[in-house]
Amino acid sequence: MQNFNQSENFSADYLVRAAAISTMVPGQRPIDNGALLIQATSNGDRIKAVGSYHSLQKESYHKVVDLGAVTIAPGLINAHTHLEISHLAGLTVGGQGFVPWLKSLVPHLNQPPDDEALNNALKEMQSCGTVFAADMAGRHADQLAIFLRKNNFGHWLMVQHFGFATPDIGTTLPPTMAESLNSKLANSENFCRAGHAFYSTNAATLQAAKSWNRQQQRPFALHLAESSGESELLINGRGELADFFRAADILPPDFRPPGSSPVAYADKLQLLDEMTLAIHCIELDQSNIDILARRRVNVCLCPRSNAFIGVGRAPWEKLHKNGVNLCLGTDSLTSNHNLNLWHELEFLLAEKNSIMDLETGLKMLTLNPAQALSIDTDFGTLEPGKKALWSIVPEVFL
Ligand SMILES: [Zn+2]
Repeated sequence: MQNFNQSENFSADYLVRAAAISTMVPGQRPIDNGALLIQATSNGDRIKAVGSYHSLQKESYHKVVDLGAVTIAPGLINAHTHLEISHLAGLTVGGQGFVPWLKSLVPHLNQPPDDEALNNALKEMQSCGTVFAADMAGRHADQLAIFLRKNNFGHWLMVQHFGFATPDIGTTLPPTMAESLNSKLANSENFCRAGHAFYSTNAATLQAAKSWNRQQQRPFALHLAESSGESELLINGRGELADFFRAADILPPDFRPPGSSPVAYADKLQLLDEMTLAIHCIELDQSNIDILARRRVNVCLCPRSNAFIGVGRAPWEKLHKNGVNLCLGTDSLTSNHNLNLWHELEFLLAEKNSIMDLETGLKMLTLNPAQALSIDTDFGTLEPGKKALWSIVPEVFL
């Protein structure tokens, strides 16, 4: 129902009516017995007006699609996924920490994604009202680019740079992607560079990738401060994670730890600004939170993934209190039970002594990621000019 406008064809304007509309426009209260006036344009269906049903219906006669006794909100934005490993669901070890999880995942990573798993993952996202994903892709990025485009699903294809071999953005992309970099596909408007993480990727490469995105005004994403092992590796070069990556010949023998926390290191390398999306951010002290706030970094929380793996939880209340723009992501099906963003929010609301309220949570699924990912001209709120894509707020939240 959320993507009604994609499956039905109206040549004239039409009204979508709902018992309540949470527009997520700052300062605007939910509209009871509301409606969206939608216009079919060559650029897809767009919202022409938002208001009470009676005020919009009065102007002229329009076909009405009545959604009934539901509250609608903007289409949801999943700020962090890895669709390309959807077929590996059920093969990983959970609850034992980051390295056991990683060790269980790595042997399977060469298996190319299969269409059935990709289709099911996409359907699962769409069925909860997700209309956009910031999808981080690795070695099968080219396949994902084709898949997402074919399905006309809103996305950033954030292609990860990985490895220490050469501090060069020309050589640390997945080989297939590097080969096709000059092709139309890789040069598409949905492509942006991303970094995997400090424990897996050369700092100079991450800087070059960030710099490329900055020039193109595209968002840069990086897994940051996800586990205590990452902090240990950067502070003194030791620990279980460092041992694993050395044994796998990823971390070079001459790797010299910078001697600082992941966030402080990212700041030193000038990777942090308002166009950066830092994913996870669990291992933070107050000075790290101050840096993230000062640099206006966007943080993507993946609470169910963190719980699945057993790496702890992000201090999101402190981040929120310090004004950090927070988004929610499901991460992949190798560290989560499904790709339903409402479950992510439900998880935060259910935490003991949770200070989360629905308004704050809804923002983390709509307006905040739209701003973080620079897609707020099309997504994030229900207001004139934006894409006519909405979600239905599950009853459990109302
Ligand atoms: Zn991830």
